[in-house]
Amino acid sequence: MLIVMKPSATAHDVDAAVEIIQAIGLRAHPMPGATRTAIGITGNQGVIESRRFEDLPGVAEVIRVTKPYKLITLDLRPEKTIVRVGDATIGGSDLAFIAGPCAIENRDQAFAVAEAVQKSGARFFRGGVWKPRTSPYTFQGLGDKGWEIMVEIRETFGLKIVTEALDESSVDLVEQYGDVIQIGARNMQNFSLLKRAGRSKLPVLLKRGMAATLEEWLLAAEYIMAEGNYNVILCERGVRTFAQHTRNTLDLASVPAIRRISHLPVIVDPSHGTGSAYMVTPLARAGVAVGADGLMVEVHNHPELALSDAAQALTLSEYAELINEVRAIRKSLLRFADDSRTEKAST
Ligand code: PEP
Ligand code: MN
Repeated sequence: MLIVMKPSATAHDVDAAVEIIQAIGLRAHPMPGATRTAIGITGNQGVIESRRFEDLPGVAEVIRVTKPYKLITLDLRPEKTIVRVGDATIGGSDLAFIAGPCAIENRDQAFAVAEAVQKSGARFFRGGVWKPRTSPYTFQGLGDKGWEIMVEIRETFGLKIVTEALDESSVDLVEQYGDVIQIGARNMQNFSLLKRAGRSKLPVLLKRGMAATLEEWLLAAEYIMAEGNYNVILCERGVRTFAQHTRNTLDLASVPAIRRISHLPVIVDPSHGTGSAYMVTPLARAGVAVGADGLMVEVHNHPELALSDAAQALTLSEYAELINEVRAIRKSLLRFADDSRTEKAST
């Protein structure tokens, strides 16, 4: 159920509605918007009697939710969510770039890449401290030693640190040293991990599972939000199909499909989405062209020596060129949007 408050409702009216929701043992999720606040309700097993809310002061409408989603929807929040990470944003007017190596391998590697990432104007540095690998015999990440390097990078370059938490206990470390909790494709339906991230104050970057439908992916986001963390960023990274020319099939249609349903920001990862460096830039261009809020890209100072995902890593100069190109694409997209608004206004 969803309670839409009147534009004239006061903070006191919202608090009063929240108190009643809590008093009957349910959870209230107030979402302030540009014109009105809506309150999502979770925690009910069956139908909630709507009449008890209808006559409360400041209530405009009580809507029964018939879709499987409650908190990710545009019904609850018609404006896009802008996730703020300190002074950086994801989902705002600027494209967000999250770039870095697949894994933190050593200080020299991480610093060389971080310097290029900072120079490109990106605000987010990615890099696995723990790596979820298909084989137990391949490089598993530096683990705790990787954090020492990450902390130095954060301080030296002022970049926000995005790294994957493989399990609940690693969320504690991301909270201590990082800025954004990444939940990987393999963990998209690790419900205890989703709930733990939902209790965190840090934003959560939720990758699409490799065999997840849009609905499953969005319901995974609901798990995080239902715990009270509304700062979720969705990341399309491709799904497993019969195609053999790519590592995964990057489903760019998910970007407009999400836009139609959800207020959450969505970014595209053309690196894991293709698995081949030569395809990363074309698919990054396409991701921005379909309206993604940003990109996650793997970069390495010596791709040929990378300990994981070597085939998809861009060189530092390829990465710099990609950023210039997609910025130009974004600029022309904004111009199209402006032109069509002007045309509509003049007809
Ligand atoms: C990653 O981004 O490092 C990663 C492992 O990606 P995914 O979870 O999408 O496979
Ligand atoms: Mn990788």
